[in-house]
Amino acid sequence: HSGFVALAGRPNVGKSTLVNAMVGHKVAIVSDKPQTTRRAIRGVATGPDWQLVLVDLPGVQRPRDALTTRMQSRVERELADSDAALMLINGLEGIGPGDRFIADALRKTSTPVIVAVNKVDKLNDAKLMEVLQAAADLEVGDDIYPISARKGTGLEPLLDRLRELL
Ligand code: GDP
Ligand code: MG
Repeated sequence: HSGFVALAGRPNVGKSTLVNAMVGHKVAIVSDKPQTTRRAIRGVATGPDWQLVLVDLPGVQRPRDALTTRMQSRVERELADSDAALMLINGLEGIGPGDRFIADALRKTSTPVIVAVNKVDKLNDAKLMEVLQAAADLEVGDDIYPISARKGTGLEPLLDRLRELL
């Protein structure tokens, strides 16, 4: 199985770190999807019989004053080419307007959205509960996964879930 995962998240949430943690060493891009050439591939996570091509979801990283119709349709087009969207939240900073902006754009799509709260290695239990609740209050996506991209914790359940969506 092979598919695309569109990554969304404010600057500094840990997108690059997560891609590095997911990708490991084996890299083989084998896809019959024409989007492969056009999209900005960050990395490819692979297993014996699966691969996840990790790409950026453009148009949502920089919040303006409003989510315009044009931006929304651009996001929709990108998501139509993806098997899943992965929204990353910075657990250390908590949720801000930038996250709400991204959530607004993702909430309307029929592509499955998975939310991951990153940097949980720096959070105590109370703070973790607080940010998971705040993430749930965004009302975007099916599941919320606490992870540490830096330590590599929580990645297996997240990868399992993404693979189910291929
Ligand atoms: P990006 O802008 O979304 O690509 O974020 P980066 O991957 O560049 O990470 C931004 C900063 O957050 C870097 O200093 C990373 O080392 C740090 N970072 C990323 N993931 C984690 C994590 O799980 N825990 C902690 N404590 N820091 C992290
Ligand atoms: Mg980066």
